[in-house]
This record gives sequence, structure tokens and C-alpha cells, in this order.
Amino acid sequence: MITNSFDDDRCKSISENLKLIREKISESAIKSGRNYEDIKLMAVTKTVPVEYINYSIDNCGIDLIGENKVQEFLSKKDTLHLDGVEKHLIGHLQTNKVKKIVPLVDMIQSVDSVHLAEEISKQALNNSIVSDILLEVNIGSEESKTGFDKEAFLESLSKISELPNLNVKGIMTIPPICDTEKELKEYFTTMSQYFNDIKEKQYKNFNMEILSMGMSGDYETAIECGANLVRIGSLIYGARIYK
Ligand SMILES: *Cc1c(COP(=O)(O)O)cnc(C)c1O
Repeated sequence: MITNSFDDDRCKSISENLKLIREKISESAIKSGRNYEDIKLMAVTKTVPVEYINYSIDNCGIDLIGENKVQEFLSKKDTLHLDGVEKHLIGHLQTNKVKKIVPLVDMIQSVDSVHLAEEISKQALNNSIVSDILLEVNIGSEESKTGFDKEAFLESLSKISELPNLNVKGIMTIPPICDTEKELKEYFTTMSQYFNDIKEKQYKNFNMEILSMGMSGDYETAIECGANLVRIGSLIYGARIYK
């Protein structure tokens, strides 16, 4: 029987996984005319036990984590070694949880409606802070996914730019599962075009710096298409076990 839940082998593989991922990030960055330093690596920590997250922070240089659920983040945060670590919410956020999460995270990447942006703006104002957000785009127009519909997205930008205490730092997406690399690249490239177009338009309260796309299975392609923040979970920590 295994009584010790902390597994040295798992730590070793986290270190090795990260070493390999960073090499690949570097290669993909160079392919797209950039450097490793231009790409931010987020460790996606949903379902990962706190001790392994802390291991990756303390020993592997992880300085940006992403959690999907408000409740899970709240239950972990007091035991996480969060000094100098940026925390982003990356999962769908219900408006009734905005109040709780706004003062606790450095960025909400999953803003998928004007209504949600309004609520975050309101709570940021209440807390006398400016909330950094990304706008999530449902690039494949999938019913099963959250994110702005493409049409609604472009129409919503000027409205969002009028909201106080918000700093729109960029956009994020999860593309559909694609049969071909070509199809995947089309989605990522469209996002990259949105990113550049919006940046050019210089909306008030927009400071377009982050193009968040790419996960365990597609981060290299995403970087080649312009991503500068990749969100990687299972490739770092191993397959997720949902309870
Ligand atoms: C879970 C998740 C990831 C990471 O997924 P992996 O395939 O495990 O790398 C990235 N982004 C979001 C929004 C997620 O929910």
C-alpha cells in the first residue's frame, strides 16, 4: 500500500517535462522570429494536488499558474507558495462569483460576455483596483464552448472599452479539435489577425499585449502562429484525475 502521497518520481517527471517543453517553446519561438523570452509559459494547475504545484514553483521556475474554477482556487490558495507567482483564472466565470475572485487573481482570461465584463468592472471599482482581463473568443463557433461568438466579439469591443477599472490586455482561445494541422493553423492565424487589428484600433482601456493560445497538444503550432502565452497542464503534471 502506498501511504505517502508525495511521489518523487512524479516530481522528477515534472522537471523533465518542463525542460522539454521549454526547449520546444524556444524552437517554436525562433521559427516565428522571436525568442524564448517572448513567450510566457503558464502552468495549468486544475486538479493538480498542491504539493506538486508547489514543487514546480519552488524547483522548476514556474511563475504563472492558471486555475479554471473559483472554488478550487479558493481551496488551494492558502497552501500554495504564491510569492512572486502570477495567478490567472482561465475557466468560465459565473457572474455571482466575480466578487470573490476579482481581488484575488492577477488576470481573468476567460471574459466571454459584455455582461461579465461589466460585473468585473463593477467589482474592480468597489475594490479600488484595475482588473486585467483577456477576452475569450469561441473561434470555432462551437456550441459546447464558452467565449464570444466571432460576430458579437467585434461588436462588443467599443462597449467594453467604456467600462471603468478594466485593462484589456489581449485575447485568448481554445480552438476546436482539428483533423489537420492546416485547419488548426487557420484558427490560430485568425486569432492572430484579431489581435493585431484590435491593437491597431487603440481602444480606450485596451493595452493589447497577450495572445493566449496553445495547450498541451498544440502549443508549438500556436506559437508559430503568434501566441505569446501558452497554457499547459497535462504535459507538465501528467494526465488529470477528475474526482
Ligand atoms: C485545462 C486547460 C488548459 C490546459 O490543458 P492541457 O491540455 O492539459 O494542457 C488550458 N487552457 C484552459 C482554458 C484549460 O481549461
